[in-house]
Amino acid sequence: MLAGVTILGLFFVGLGIYFISYCFSNYYNVPGSNSVDGGGYLIFGPVGIVLGAGLLWYSLPVFIPIKQKPQPKVKTCPSCGAIVEENAAQCEKCKNQLSDT
Ligand SMILES: [Zn+2]
Repeated sequence: MLAGVTILGLFFVGLGIYFISYCFSNYYNVPGSNSVDGGGYLIFGPVGIVLGAGLLWYSLPVFIPIKQKPQPKVKTCPSCGAIVEENAAQCEKCKNQLSDT
């Protein structure tokens, strides 16, 4: 379930942004206070964003449809029902001539 990883990634990115904004708001809004405490959050912030971005990158294939292999063109033998290649001249199973289409 990669969708859960996406949510987790968004959560970590949000948490990182929150930590950074908390750190700076603490630093700017409360001058003179012990802003050194916010220094630890400044480390957690980028770590959270990087971790979240990594999780988002990991879960990215969920949202990008995987390029599917082109199906080999086949048709059904009108005589025996066997699946044969579209351009086959005759059925491999019953040797029925497949001149049409
Ligand atoms: Zn056949």
